[in-house]
Amino acid sequence: MPSQNLRESRLKVAIIGAGPAGLGAAIEFNKLPFVDWTVYEKASAVREIGAGLSIQSNTWRLLESMGAAKNLKPKDFFRPADNHSVQHRNGRTGELLVSHGQPGTPESQLHARAHRAKLQNALLKEVDTKHISLSKRLIKVTRQASGRQLIEFQDGFKDEVDLVVGADGVRSVVRSFAFPDHRVSYTGRTSYRTLITSEEVARVPDVPNAVTFWQGPSQWLYTCPLGDGLFEITTMVNEPNEGGEKEKVSWGQDATVEQMTRHFKDFAPITKDILALSKDVKQYALFAGPRLESVVANGSVALVGDASHPLSGAFGNGAGFALEDVYALAASISWAYERDLNLSEGLNLFDQVRSPHYAKLYGILDEFGKTDAYVRASNFDFDGAVKVLIEQTWSQRHHWLYDYDASPLSNGSTNVPGPR
Ligand SMILES: Cc1cc2nc3c(=O)[nH]c(=O)nc-3n(C[C@H](O)[C@H](O)[C@H](O)COP(=O)(O)OP(=O)(O)OC[C@H]3O[C@@H](n4cnc5c(N)ncnc54)[C@H](O)[C@@H]3O)c2cc1C
Repeated sequence: MPSQNLRESRLKVAIIGAGPAGLGAAIEFNKLPFVDWTVYEKASAVREIGAGLSIQSNTWRLLESMGAAKNLKPKDFFRPADNHSVQHRNGRTGELLVSHGQPGTPESQLHARAHRAKLQNALLKEVDTKHISLSKRLIKVTRQASGRQLIEFQDGFKDEVDLVVGADGVRSVVRSFAFPDHRVSYTGRTSYRTLITSEEVARVPDVPNAVTFWQGPSQWLYTCPLGDGLFEITTMVNEPNEGGEKEKVSWGQDATVEQMTRHFKDFAPITKDILALSKDVKQYALFAGPRLESVVANGSVALVGDASHPLSGAFGNGAGFALEDVYALAASISWAYERDLNLSEGLNLFDQVRSPHYAKLYGILDEFGKTDAYVRASNFDFDGAVKVLIEQTWSQRHHWLYDYDASPLSNGSTNVPGPR
């Protein structure tokens, strides 16, 4: 059954999820006069727990084009005075090993860190909230003989739509119906995060006023001001899945300070002093899955954000990838509309643009995995392991992904950046 010719009738779109991907999709679809859209969100309010998040130049560009950048005031985020993006330090000695500048990046698009809620609110301000339906947990998606999709919610509400946009995160229900064989699982990595105030961290002398990774052989600590008087402490550690517990824990569960700090006994005194300030710790068991061959299905489903690429926070740019996805999706559908084509042709263009991009990102993850395996097998001491990890993982080689410019897509061009 061919999908709908876009000029024949208005396109009815259900966007599932009101995270960065869903809100970005709402902004982009609202620009298309032939689209009627609704966002369905399972939570009773659009809110963000989490902690800090990086806003790289690709994300800033899209926030500017979506009109949301203006909603982020300078006090809402942190930018280091030297315009360097990140400091990488040896976690044991504290020695600064690498710090990258951002030559050529416009000032308004320099790397910044903000609380995730700031980004969420900046996007939300650009969305017509009359079209957001809260407390709507999607439970089922069924393709109809007409080619449309029937969406069903836990509260009994049902609707039939031309296009379902799965923006429902790493454990996407939309994906589970579109690609039933695809599975995500616990990666063996858990992140612990806590927020403290700038005054509290000022009690520890010489804490870098920078976005700082304190690298260890199998774990890292991340410290960073976030703007608005907040300071973020995040750790990433290996934790086995004892008793299958991690499969139950996904995002933002309570954890103890001891759980957060126990992996850092060999670290420098300054890092222990910072960690000692931790309180209200949350744990994030990281889930990931294999790359999907396609991010569209049946000419009537498109996956965006973490639903389409369960990368588990790798690259610290998932919100940026999500905004790229929704920009590309709306531009592809608009491209098909202008050429009197049908919906599936627009979705195919979207897939041609985004699937190869994710193939490149998964390729980088494979490289990271090989470096980790090499370090594990090589019997390095702390400093030796750190040196290899920083050289291999944090060189500028992968920086092209933060320079990605999605704007050629508005002309139907698939000519977008890749590895140099
Ligand atoms: C440890 C860690 C660190 C990270 N750091 C960064 C960073 O520095 N920078 C960055 O850009 N990204 C970062 N990310 C990634 C970023 O958090 C995600 O990539 C981003 O939030 C993805 O947005 P999304 O809208 O696709 O999904 P989500 O933010 O997960 O939103 C999904 C939405 O869908 C809703 N939903 C889910 N299921 C249903 C359902 N059945 N029915 C209705 N609604 C539903 C949820 O309630 C939620 O509101 C990090 C991730 C992790 C794990």
